[in-house]
Amino acid sequence: MARKRDMDSWYVEPKPPEVCVLCGREAPSMTDHHLVPKSQGRRQGVKLGEIPTVKMCAACQGFLTKTFSNAELANELNTVDALLAREEVQKFVKWVQKQPLTKGVRVH
Ligand SMILES: [Zn+2]
Repeated sequence: MARKRDMDSWYVEPKPPEVCVLCGREAPSMTDHHLVPKSQGRRQGVKLGEIPTVKMCAACQGFLTKTFSNAELANELNTVDALLAREEVQKFVKWVQKQPLTKGVRVH
């Protein structure tokens, strides 16, 4: 039986591709987005390592920081579901999904 276990260890779980939690694109530049902005977390006494992060492409993250204040993000939009429920986010995601991945998206 030990032999079978050796065989199993050859099998490497394929890594799921990293896709943006908002637009679902496999973007070349993914960042760990803190669902609670770091500055807000500190104010609320949350340790940096305890703030949940999600994979987000640079375009979506740029959009969020441009569109919402840190307080809004920390208090109302601190889950992916809450973000996707916002009309502004839905509109942006629809738009950004049509943009070529290779081209940097300017959100400013
Ligand atoms: Zn995205």
